[in-house]
Amino acid sequence: MPKAEETVLEIDLNTLAHNFKTIKSQLKPGVKFMSVIKAYAYGNDSVAMANKLEELGTDYFAVAYTEEGIRLREAGISKPILILHPQPVNYPEIIEHCLEPNLYSARTLQLFIELAEKQKQKNYPVHLKFNTGMNRLGFTEANYHHIPEKLKKTKSVRIASAFSHLAASEDWKEREFTLSQIYKFKDLAGKLLEDIDYEPLLHLCNTSAVFNYPSAAFSMVRSGLGLYGFANDDNLNKKLKPVGTLKSVISQIQNLEEGDTVGYGRAFKAEKTTRIATLPVGHADGIKRIYGHGKAGVFVNGEYAPIVGNVCMDIIMINVTHIDCKEGDEVIIFGGPQPVPELAAKGGTVSYELITGISQRVKRIIIK
Ligand SMILES: *Cc1c(COP(=O)(O)O)cnc(C)c1O
Repeated sequence: MPKAEETVLEIDLNTLAHNFKTIKSQLKPGVKFMSVIKAYAYGNDSVAMANKLEELGTDYFAVAYTEEGIRLREAGISKPILILHPQPVNYPEIIEHCLEPNLYSARTLQLFIELAEKQKQKNYPVHLKFNTGMNRLGFTEANYHHIPEKLKKTKSVRIASAFSHLAASEDWKEREFTLSQIYKFKDLAGKLLEDIDYEPLLHLCNTSAVFNYPSAAFSMVRSGLGLYGFANDDNLNKKLKPVGTLKSVISQIQNLEEGDTVGYGRAFKAEKTTRIATLPVGHADGIKRIYGHGKAGVFVNGEYAPIVGNVCMDIIMINVTHIDCKEGDEVIIFGGPQPVPELAAKGGTVSYELITGISQRVKRIIIK
């Protein structure tokens, strides 16, 4: 790679292929793969990821919102796309773009069927979500009865899949709870199979569950974080490779004397002669204020440089007094010497939040 000359997120498609194959190798033959590419593919450019994942043979895609699905269709993505969290107001556009809604309640199932009937749809693919303990979205055992009641009266929709979501598949201390979720899912899926005369796909596992609960793979798994190189566990992280590297560049170097201060609020005060480098990246790019005041740092020519003072909207300042560097030199914010999970932990957060938070104004560079 040429050296970064501005703030860029480098995204390596070969690494994506490695992660896809590694996760896939955990699955029994015939188990399908749903690639979760919501939130701009966790910050990694959803269209670039989707194109590569189609080439690699993913069976399905999932995004959270309808708008994300439309963007993929407009880019020519043809595999089925599950919309995990749509609203009834989105249903006309969902049908128009051949997207497949998650219907998670009596209300949403009813409203989607009404629209499908009105449009004279036949067997439109929809997905049912069961609430097995996460308590966010889904039919519980107590309100399961709405499903057969509403399906009996219509031929406008077809259940492409039924699924649920695990609350703590990465946490061995919650093993008993996870097993109870798996049991509840089997139970509700069994009811559904009795109530309809065809077999929908069944899926429960996210990335961590693919590795930790292989017997719960059913007929499909949903993987997001793992594709991008992380699995909520130090050992599993070693099997996968980070897809994204966030780089920046030194815009300017300031030489401070004792008593000089840096940035807003004069939050950093030099106690001796100090060299400060300014980088074109800030909290509007996803490097949050929490990382300021020396809480985290970046790497310059292989050396660690702490972030000093307050993180600004478009700028951070780093202390490079001890580092041989000059204006225009490349800086690594995450990836390589500074893994995403480590930086996230310094900010009191998780890899998911750090990588999805890199704003779209940061240029993405796709490495083929
Ligand atoms: C985001 C999401 C996933 C992906 O989870 P990972 O831990 O990133 O693999 C799977 N299922 C649902 C319902 C989700 O919302």
